[in-house]
Amino acid sequence: MSIRDPAELSRSELVRWVKEVLRRYGVRPSRKLGQHFLVEPSLLRDIERFGDLRRDDIVFEIGGGTGVLTAFLAFRVKHVITIEIDRRLVEALRELSSALGNVEVIEGDVLEYELPRVNKIVADIPYSITSPLLEKLLLEWRGRYEVAVLTLQHEVGERLIAVPGTKEYGRLTVFCNLFSEVTYLRRIPRSFFYPIPEVDSALIKIVPRSDVPEFNYSNFRDLVTYLFTQRNKLVKKVLTEYIKSRDLRISVDELPSELVNKRVRDLRPLDFIELVKHLKRT
Ligand code: SAH
Repeated sequence: MSIRDPAELSRSELVRWVKEVLRRYGVRPSRKLGQHFLVEPSLLRDIERFGDLRRDDIVFEIGGGTGVLTAFLAFRVKHVITIEIDRRLVEALRELSSALGNVEVIEGDVLEYELPRVNKIVADIPYSITSPLLEKLLLEWRGRYEVAVLTLQHEVGERLIAVPGTKEYGRLTVFCNLFSEVTYLRRIPRSFFYPIPEVDSALIKIVPRSDVPEFNYSNFRDLVTYLFTQRNKLVKKVLTEYIKSRDLRISVDELPSELVNKRVRDLRPLDFIELVKHLKRT
């Protein structure tokens, strides 16, 4: 089987590629698994440009699907490791892999895997796992890759770059901005995928920061998550409940008053670190 570089194919040829794989392997695209496959050559080019793809890169692709992006990557970088949860698509990817030679296919759920040794990550993130996967990328895998180029729901993209006080601002924004530099590269019309999803997407670039202050991650995560369940309340009030429920030996009065008198939604990312330092467990 000889494979053509997807970048040389038109959108209708990519649609044909996707449909052919779905037919051969008996796959009816599942919305739950976020099975909307990329069929737009210009988006492939954008991923290449923004990810600054090079010959010596080793790329981890999350959700290989029908293999269009996998093949596109394989033509440009040294090695691609792709993970896919759908067994039938894994079969399709394995066939592709034996024709391409530099693709390794893992069958499984990305949330249960460790990041392999790679320098870049490219993912078209299924909506159902966006939040846990972003947390993995931002917290757990931080510092173990140079750049991640992600396609995710437009609305999630807006949340990642939101400023304090707005309704899009939340725990993901805080995690994202503390640990990495996030760039919203472009909005992606839903027509770039087959089958067409219900909402537009966004192309996002994440570069982990190297200058992140030291603190206890799991306490931090617990605190941020708790606070944002009551985002419109005064920090003082929510923290009083938090201190009690976590059995911490500190009183809210001992915390910086300029922080505890704000509303949760107005705390800046660094304010959360400040708080977690004071709430050190005994
Ligand atoms: N990158 C491909 C596929 C995008 S669709 C393309 O652009 O064409 C998203 C893919 O992620 C689907 O193939 C789906 O089966 C897979 N997927 C969904 N949840 C997953 C998970 N938890 N772990 C690994 N792959 C997953």
